Amino acid sequence: DPALESRLLEGLNPQQREAVVHRGEALLIVAGAGSGKTSVLTRRIAHLIETKDAWPSQILAITFTNKAAAEMRERVETLIGQAAEGMWISTFHSACVRILRREAETFGYTKSFTIYDSADSRALIKRIIKDLDADTFGFTVSKVAGRISKAKNELQEVESYSRNANFADPAEAVFVEMFRRYSSELTRANAFDFDDLIAQTVYLFRAFPKVAALYQRRFRHILVDEYQDTNHAQYSLIRELTRAPKPEHLKGAVGFDGMPLKEYDRPLPPASLTVVGDSDQSIYAFRGADIRNIVEFERDFPNSKVILLEQNYRSTQNILSAANSVIANNFDRKDKKLFTTIGDGEKIVGFTGYSQHDEAQFIADEIVELREAGMDYRDVAVFYRTNAQTRALEDVFIRSALPYRVIGGTKFYERAEIKDAMAYLIAVANPADPLALRRIMNVPKRGIGPATEAALQNHADKDGRTLRDALRESDQLGLGPKVTAAIEGLATILDEVGATADTAAPADILAALLERTGFIEALRASRDPQDEARAENVEELLAVTREFRRNNPTGTLLDFLTEVSLVAAADELDDSSGTVSLMTLHTAKGLEFEAVFLTGVEEGLLPHQMSAGEPGGPAEERRLFYVGITRARRRLYLSLAMTRAQFGDVTVAMPSRYLQEIPTELIDWRQSPGMANSRGGTEPRALNARRGGFGAENSLAGSSLGGPGGYAIESGGPGATARARAAARAAERPKTEWTSRVTSTVRDNGDLTLAAGDRIRHVDFGDGKVTAVTGTGPKAVAEVQFETAGRKRLLIKISPIEKL
Ligand code: ATP
Ligand code: MG
Repeated sequence: DPALESRLLEGLNPQQREAVVHRGEALLIVAGAGSGKTSVLTRRIAHLIETKDAWPSQILAITFTNKAAAEMRERVETLIGQAAEGMWISTFHSACVRILRREAETFGYTKSFTIYDSADSRALIKRIIKDLDADTFGFTVSKVAGRISKAKNELQEVESYSRNANFADPAEAVFVEMFRRYSSELTRANAFDFDDLIAQTVYLFRAFPKVAALYQRRFRHILVDEYQDTNHAQYSLIRELTRAPKPEHLKGAVGFDGMPLKEYDRPLPPASLTVVGDSDQSIYAFRGADIRNIVEFERDFPNSKVILLEQNYRSTQNILSAANSVIANNFDRKDKKLFTTIGDGEKIVGFTGYSQHDEAQFIADEIVELREAGMDYRDVAVFYRTNAQTRALEDVFIRSALPYRVIGGTKFYERAEIKDAMAYLIAVANPADPLALRRIMNVPKRGIGPATEAALQNHADKDGRTLRDALRESDQLGLGPKVTAAIEGLATILDEVGATADTAAPADILAALLERTGFIEALRASRDPQDEARAENVEELLAVTREFRRNNPTGTLLDFLTEVSLVAAADELDDSSGTVSLMTLHTAKGLEFEAVFLTGVEEGLLPHQMSAGEPGGPAEERRLFYVGITRARRRLYLSLAMTRAQFGDVTVAMPSRYLQEIPTELIDWRQSPGMANSRGGTEPRALNARRGGFGAENSLAGSSLGGPGGYAIESGGPGATARARAAARAAERPKTEWTSRVTSTVRDNGDLTLAAGDRIRHVDFGDGKVTAVTGTGPKAVAEVQFETAGRKRLLIKISPIEKL
């Protein structure tokens, strides 16, 4: 249909059009963010099908996430108006799972193989380390997991790895043995880990040319989005799939529909390959992604066509200029300047808060204003570097009655490790609660399985006593000595810590539980990013308990639990305009939003302190910042806090080094009310110092750029520089109640009914007048015009307010 065909090209610029209609040799599209790479890939698929140059079943498109795959499929179907059945649009991993399931029997597996997720892999590695006493060589689970993963991503199997290993080095010899055991255990379990999915598919294709030929014949068009983040194994998979299938390998083969293939005496050309990427957005080097795959594309695919896209259709000029000037600080890159015709747009808004709550409150207030100006919640996103940052955001969002979702993650109080830690607190506060006790009985693992639990429960049921009583009498149950000891150990901890429940500070109770049970130690010992994140979350909970006590000097454990249950219970509020999306910067790749809040733009978070020791770490973090900035269409907010409760302590935060890379005139700086120059348009002092000038400020700021010593410095702690102390004093200076609002009072306004016109008093915001009330029961929200604090939305049930 020529009309439809031309509609597919409508609105494209000449380079985009060229990319869509190109046929034949491999095609590489390199272009900056928002230039239409993904759109072009989508149009190209539709165009191939519409022009009958390809059947849907001949298309294999690779995206980075499942969400992106679903979106692309949907868009192709919208474009060509039919269900494009048989088309493979998926991630590398899901495509490989499909191939492996179909071919498993060819190479000694069964179709029903299991996929080990990273927790499974780690459990296995942990056992192997123990068996070999490998920790004496300094091996941790995550070190071993990381090295095995790296080897697999480089397509090194145990044999090839050990050929190059230096066995004179005992640590290396031990590692090879661990790698060998790990691999053979997986094989014995008929299982693949994540990295295997790709690597084994490559091995399969290399070892069985007949199998490879089937796929080489089937997929005539292979398209890869976010090509800059492919690793060597993924690259090799693409290589295998883009070889010409040999006729002799197809002889007698059975096709995907189960019918014998028709003879091929005429050789088929290799599949056509289209890859799109942006080396400035490569943010997965830590997983083995290799930017060289882009650089070397032209060498590996001679005669390939390269198309550059230079127009950005996503963002305003101000946002784009900020992105361009930040990324220009990375070496080793081809300079590419994006332009836009959208116009300057609003300035970027910068905000410095006293604390992360202050930062979160600012964001919530701005979102309310955006909403009032007509923006939908679904068009707003909040990004952060680490998951632990969500807690303050979630607290404030719930209290401000803003509907939100945590994308690719779990809400703070719904996270397993937080529920575990909370269950410990509940078990201590309420010994009769069997639910909490059951949850922690075997966390961390102490050998109390379901049978033991059932025996304990029976014992309790017999005399109508609690499960906790049964725990104390475990010696009467005739269980093995080891498990009996484990139960007694747990009972003792709960009893002893429980004895302090009414008097001790919640933070001390939690710390005692986490330490005595080995809970925190297990997480801390591991260097795995996931366990690290879990540990960070648990430490964030510790920070919550400390903060609670600061604001409620006499608050008990029970008060704390009451407060948290109220926050956790205020579940999703509905709004026809969707929900605000909260996600990590890594998750944000490829997406776009009208308004973007990029939070925690501080040294230690962005760049993250873990990146400091890695070669290329700060450059990769800068690309991450660039990815974040370029997600914004119209409005961009960069925010930071002067102090941040993190890792269980309050630290003084310094503005990120990346902020000074943005031209001053692009940012409109705002600060907390009460702070000097409120909305006065000045940037944070520390940042100002960094930009130049002389004197103590500058030299100190300079030193913070230097090494790990420059990251978030504990206030007043040993080694804290004069600068950090000065900053700490500055942070303490404004003695307002600003930061206390979030956890100020334990409160349940269960039956407080408000109506428009009522006057109220809020602990932090002062007096105000209710202008509207929406929702009912626990979801009732009051809109209040405060005399000095402006307009706020408040979830009535949990807000520290009284009716006047
Ligand atoms: P990223 O690098 O962030 O993945 P991208 O290069 O893949 O970005 P797209 O997401 O495809 O960019 O496009 C960015 C935005 O620009 C989208 O909203 C898209 O609809 C729009 N867009 C792309 N090309 C055009 C065009 N020719 N005319 C108008 N809008 C366009
Ligand atoms: Mg894209």
